[in-house]
Amino acid sequence: MSNIVIVGGGASGLIAAIYAKTSNNKVTILERNKEVGKKILVTGNGRCNYWNENITTKNYHSNNLEEVKNIITDKNKVEIMDFFNKIGIIPKVKDGYYYPRSNQATSIRNALKTEVNNLAIDIQYDTFVKDIKKQNNQFLLETSKGVIKADKVIIATGSKAMPKTGSDGNGYLLLKNLGHSLTELFPVLVQLEGKGNFFKLWEGVRSEAKLTLLEQGKKLATEIGEIQLTNYGISGICTFNLSHLVAKGLKRGKQEEVMIDFLPFLNINTAEDFITYFDQRNKLVANRSIEQLLEGILNYKLINTMLYLTNISKDRSWNKLTALEKTNLYNNLKNFKLEIIKTKSYDTAQSCGGGIPLLEINTKTMQSKLVDNLYIVGEILDVDGVCGGYNLAFAWLSGMLAGKDASKND
Ligand SMILES: Cc1cc2nc3c(=O)[nH]c(=O)nc-3n(C[C@H](O)[C@H](O)[C@H](O)COP(=O)(O)OP(=O)(O)OC[C@H]3O[C@@H](n4cnc5c(N)ncnc54)[C@H](O)[C@@H]3O)c2cc1C
Repeated sequence: MSNIVIVGGGASGLIAAIYAKTSNNKVTILERNKEVGKKILVTGNGRCNYWNENITTKNYHSNNLEEVKNIITDKNKVEIMDFFNKIGIIPKVKDGYYYPRSNQATSIRNALKTEVNNLAIDIQYDTFVKDIKKQNNQFLLETSKGVIKADKVIIATGSKAMPKTGSDGNGYLLLKNLGHSLTELFPVLVQLEGKGNFFKLWEGVRSEAKLTLLEQGKKLATEIGEIQLTNYGISGICTFNLSHLVAKGLKRGKQEEVMIDFLPFLNINTAEDFITYFDQRNKLVANRSIEQLLEGILNYKLINTMLYLTNISKDRSWNKLTALEKTNLYNNLKNFKLEIIKTKSYDTAQSCGGGIPLLEINTKTMQSKLVDNLYIVGEILDVDGVCGGYNLAFAWLSGMLAGKDASKND
């Protein structure tokens, strides 16, 4: 009989507890909040994008990406799909992204909680774990409600992203005191702040765009999709997916620029193409101003921002623009360079770059290589995924592996 304690009742902790529970094991979840799965509720804009049909290492960042392969095996992926089916979740799949059919994140959180309750797993709420010591073969967890003993401990405290949900980075300290190290940390899946004083002009616009990340002028990555233009810079899924590289580069003092193509849907690759295209449009829609020429293609606010930045009055007609003005407009609409000065903070980040190095755990079982019977799962590890359900997928997969291994009695 093992006494297994899970620190943190988030995505990875809940699934770890379910897999750890057998008739021979006592399993307890210690959660600092009054409820479990607080972060699950805010995922996917309240709809919880809990999985993706195409999970490969290409969707993740880690200093030891090879190790992630042990966690995202085909067998493990099938098992997680079966698990969600068995706890009553029927997926709705859109472009490979999995959501519960109900379209409510609450369904996922509640289905997990019901399973935890059905298995008679004890949840202790309002219980903050302050420190963990190992004495003889036992763990002593110093908590806000006194000392709790355990034979095995699974750390599932999350990262530093969105601290109001309970994951504020304190878990790193728990593990540091047990001998683990920590890589460099930075907020990821986060908004980017640009350099400029015109952002009020484009605030609130959503536009189709192609984003190219340039580091010291060198192309690093490309994203196509919807971009949100804000009063500080840019946001939205494409932006989030570039944020890991931007944050890392900025930490190293590199110049980070996002080049925005606001017309990715037009087959225009040069200034000549652009001028030819709008010459033809101009003939077709005769007697219109430059603003009117662009109005069927772009949002008004965006047109006016770009005309302002190109120093062209919106009432002028295309024919009256000089070749230089047309080329400048092309550059602003197709190759708009936004210098990024910083990312937004952990307060709004959806995930965290870096964490406990994967080389310090056995990635087939999630057991620490430094401390026997200690397991580490979820976002506290040095793994972060792009948008699309990959972070929760990692939480489920790592939690399942740890729970299974911890459930074994020697
Ligand atoms: C706004 C937002 C939207 C997101 N959307 C998606 C999405 O759609 N798809 C996706 O895949 N991912 C999404 N993510 C990321 C995803 O939610 C996380 O990767 C995932 O929840 C991490 O799970 P975890 O178990 O590691 O940590 P968490 O879910 O953060 O859980 C950690 C738990 O530990 C508790 N805890 C912390 N320290 C202690 C302590 N010392 N003692 C006791 N308890 C403690 C916390 O209160 C918390 O309940 C989103 C994140 C955010 C912020």
